[in-house]
Amino acid sequence: MRRKDALYLKEKNKSSYELAQRGKQSLIAHYTAGIFSDFIFYDYGKGSKIYDIDGNEYIDCASGLGPLILGHAPDVVTEAAVEAISKGSVHGLGNGYEVKFAELLVECIPEAEVVTFTNSGTEATMHAIKLARACTGKVKIAKFEGHYHGTHEFAQISGRTAKYGPVESPQSVPDYAGIPNFVVDDTITLSMNQTESYDIIRQNKDELAAVIVEPLPIAAPLDYKEFLVGLREVTEECGVLLIFDEVVTGFRLSFGGAREYYNIIPDLSTYGKIIGGGFPVGAIIGKRKFFKPAYFDGFNLGKKSVFITGTFSGNPVTCAAGIATIEYLRDNKYLYEQMSNNVKYICENIEAHAAKIKFPLQTKSCCSIFVPYFFNGEINKPRDTKWTYNIGQYDNFRKYMAKNGVALGDIGIIFLSAAHDKEDCKKIVEAFNKSIDEIY
Ligand code: PMP
Repeated sequence: MRRKDALYLKEKNKSSYELAQRGKQSLIAHYTAGIFSDFIFYDYGKGSKIYDIDGNEYIDCASGLGPLILGHAPDVVTEAAVEAISKGSVHGLGNGYEVKFAELLVECIPEAEVVTFTNSGTEATMHAIKLARACTGKVKIAKFEGHYHGTHEFAQISGRTAKYGPVESPQSVPDYAGIPNFVVDDTITLSMNQTESYDIIRQNKDELAAVIVEPLPIAAPLDYKEFLVGLREVTEECGVLLIFDEVVTGFRLSFGGAREYYNIIPDLSTYGKIIGGGFPVGAIIGKRKFFKPAYFDGFNLGKKSVFITGTFSGNPVTCAAGIATIEYLRDNKYLYEQMSNNVKYICENIEAHAAKIKFPLQTKSCCSIFVPYFFNGEINKPRDTKWTYNIGQYDNFRKYMAKNGVALGDIGIIFLSAAHDKEDCKKIVEAFNKSIDEIY
């Protein structure tokens, strides 16, 4: 695939280019620190459109990396957030929005008896792991290679990398620096769609507190139902908690998330992204019995208690925006089918064009999510996605898409929103096909 490094669009994106140079002097963000080769700075978004600081319009397919299922600045959410913020953005102790939001989530997620809020998906998976340890009295955690659970130490074991060791029993390898050896030693890495994973859980059941899984790993959005049904049975049999990380899938795969999509009930679930209505959020939900360690005996802190809190956790603005978003989705469930049909239309049309000119492109999709892969070859699990290679190709492709009026996020995953209409989808297909022609 051709790489045109000069395609930075210095003309069209002059202000972004200048800001990028300036940003590099003082800001360490994953984009200024060089993971991706270039980027555009955005000024504002409305509905399905986003506008950069040079005033260019794009159809936005990043959707805030997942949260913006109603598009940018939907009136119903903005109004709720503005009303909350006008009463003060953080109160230090409880606020009514937090209770109302917890009640709403408990009402919408059948197995949920209680909810605890955090500020991010990372915090949610981190605390869920601690809860599982405190509940079971065991230490080790099992996770799947190529599954992303955020940026705490346990999440960065074989999260991005899915290529070490035999596929039946992958090696635990830190994705990045700064991960102590004991974290590597206490993390067992499994492989999706491999029944050997069940045997590994059985062999380690006396030490294993929990298995955490992305029920739909966004690196490879396929149907994993059969494997997950088996995983539920094995974890139950072994007294190991099953944690569904629904940070992406919650209220996205369907209103009931992956648990409803697959009809599988995990022990604990972590949420983020969509439930914050575009504000920072995370949550852990489940049956009250799994939250027993989170109840304190006054100030009698001890090894049996897990302390889950944060200055901004459950803040009124996030909760108000979250309530407005979830209520809107609850009252307009038809939107899920609409988004799903739009994704099918886009994938079919771009794959057909690529096939016609023999350009190596395939897509995998589920509901409102799809991932383009720039190689031929079967994909059955995250290891097959050649993530590092693919993200490199995607990073290049993204520039062509920007030139052709479509903004893609930087992680290789396309999230459609309910704000994308048929006309947007047609333009997305046109931009894909034009970019393919230009790059080929
Ligand atoms: N879990 C999953 C499945 C995610 O996709 C992400 C973020 N992309 C996280 C956890 C971490 O969430 P956050 O970025 O809010 O910390």
